[in-house]
Amino acid sequence: MDSTPAGDPAEELELLARQLRLHLQRHAALGAWAAPGSPMPRPVEVVEPPAAPEPGRLTLAQIREEVGECTRCKLHATRRTIVFGVGAEDAPLMFIGEAPGEQEDRRGEPFVGPAGELLDKMIEAMGWTRESVYINNIVMCRPPQNRNPQPDEVGACKPFLEARIGAIGPRIIVALGRPAANTLLGTDAPIRVLRGKFHDRNGVKVMPTFHPAYLLREPDKKRDTWADLKLVMAELERLGIQPPRG
Ligand code: URA
Repeated sequence: MDSTPAGDPAEELELLARQLRLHLQRHAALGAWAAPGSPMPRPVEVVEPPAAPEPGRLTLAQIREEVGECTRCKLHATRRTIVFGVGAEDAPLMFIGEAPGEQEDRRGEPFVGPAGELLDKMIEAMGWTRESVYINNIVMCRPPQNRNPQPDEVGACKPFLEARIGAIGPRIIVALGRPAANTLLGTDAPIRVLRGKFHDRNGVKVMPTFHPAYLLREPDKKRDTWADLKLVMAELERLGIQPPRG
């Protein structure tokens, strides 16, 4: 450090302070944490464990990011919008339909057309709301002319369906219609055979029931559907899960 000139003590002090600051800045630039001889101990570095989701478990935002502007199957060529899912990130109750229709493809949200209006009524009759459950489909893109999704399309989208189920961790899944039920349960059985009872899927209970679009064509089946949904309500109650409008 330079020697300090004699003179006005105030000026001398100011000069000393400037020199000390420069000296410390040079030390810091060389990577020193404190001036040599400093009594201050080097702080112990606390390495926080990363606040990451469990291995293999992504958040919904991460899954959506992973989907990107998907071109993994041929549906990308005719879709308008990728229809992800809506609802609560921790919903105990999940509804899975088949594929977006025309309105969903336009609006980018599942079940917003006539079938969606009926689904909303079913959810509300159970004491739940669209915001407190999670609603999605086995495929995220609309098949042309609303045809059933084909096996390669379902296969391309399935990892993202599994990821959403993993992220949300629902206690009960309502599978709406045969394609959803067959995809989830790995069976080819018709919905009339599968509905009305719980099926175990890796510890998650799956209740297959009629698709709301089918109920719009066959209103007589609403009675059976309501019976299935009452079983779901009773099971949620048994699990100690209260609906928000209970
Ligand atoms: N039918 C479905 O299966 N899903 C929708 O999102 C709309 C209609």
